Amino acid sequence: MNKMKFQVGVIKGDGIGPEVVTEAQKVLNAIATKYGHEFDYKEILMGGCSIDATGEPLTDQAIADAKASDAVLMGSIGGNTQTSPWYKLPPEKRPEAGLLKLRKSLNLFANLRPAYLYKELREACPLREDIIGDGFDMMIMRELTGGLYFGARETKEVDGVMTAVDTLTYTEEEIRRIAKRGFDIAMKRRKKVTSVDKANVLDSSRLWRKIVEEVAADYPEVTYEHMLVDNCAMQLVKDPKQFDVILTENMFGDILSDEASMVTGSIGMLSSASLNDTKFGVYEPSGGSAPDIAGQGIANPIATILSAAMMLRYSFDLDREADAIEDAVKQVLAEGYRTIDIMPQENEKRSSVKQVGTKEMGDLIAARV
Ligand code: NAD
Repeated sequence: MNKMKFQVGVIKGDGIGPEVVTEAQKVLNAIATKYGHEFDYKEILMGGCSIDATGEPLTDQAIADAKASDAVLMGSIGGNTQTSPWYKLPPEKRPEAGLLKLRKSLNLFANLRPAYLYKELREACPLREDIIGDGFDMMIMRELTGGLYFGARETKEVDGVMTAVDTLTYTEEEIRRIAKRGFDIAMKRRKKVTSVDKANVLDSSRLWRKIVEEVAADYPEVTYEHMLVDNCAMQLVKDPKQFDVILTENMFGDILSDEASMVTGSIGMLSSASLNDTKFGVYEPSGGSAPDIAGQGIANPIATILSAAMMLRYSFDLDREADAIEDAVKQVLAEGYRTIDIMPQENEKRSSVKQVGTKEMGDLIAARV
């Protein structure tokens, strides 16, 4: 067995962040003990807690610490946007500015969001039984630093009429690096890529298609197809089983990843990763800091625990260890343990499961690793 040592930056963040990250570290420690690896944790401040301590949502020192790590495990940041004093600050001083600065400083251009339906949670899926079938397991790969989000924009008066312009720009290098990432991820999965665009209308999509085809030529084992984004939005609810990796640009990915996550049920189960062109990545739950339930010990830590599994798989190449975490999560669900957010809605089904808190869920998963 190859014993390995990794430096993990840990951003606990705000709200439920510290509670769920602590449980993910517990599970990582169980992996370290079982497989003989070593995870050295370096705590990094970001978000509201950093504002309180330093006056800034993310300091240069925090960025340097993140860069010095092999990967970063993160909770969520931010507070109640109506009542927290953090939201009286100018936008560039608020918690979320820290997150944008982190993404930019670390050049995190690839966002990965898995949508996996656990058979134990299939009643949370809003789709019909015959569509769900044996469940589905897909990965949305969204370009994160280009397209409409970062193109030039302005609002001005033209001939007496207010006119707003947003620009959608992609260079071939930007498309190539995300496409390569998408095909690399597919090689670790079921080896299928669906590249989603709007090539019947947009020039940027036509370039996207051309570059994806060039990249695909280097991955003969991967089956790939092109799909128009409007069709993809339909197919996600008509036949989600067909998808393995969905590769797409920033705006389409933003919308499709939310659609895909809704068909799996709870936000408390959804992990995510943001990667750059090295092995480095930032791994975090898809949900926010849930200030409404913070400090009550009831938050679901599974999204963060599964994010830690993604870190092992994609930054550290520890596939067997990542499988061990994912299997432990499945086992705990199969044994009937549920946090409050994934409890069945109907009373008669509630008696067949056991409600547990954040810590207990972490303990159960760590023990099954
Ligand atoms: P949210 O995701 O925090 O909460 C939405 C609902 O989902 C709430 O009812 C919450 O209790 C529930 N929920 C979320 N995660 C859960 C979990 N692990 N277990 C059980 N229930 C869970 O979204 P919001 O309320 O819109 O935002 C709250 C704060 O989080 C805001 O400050 C927002 O800016 C921030 N936010 C941060 C990130 C991030 O750090 N990447 C992402 C989204 C939102």
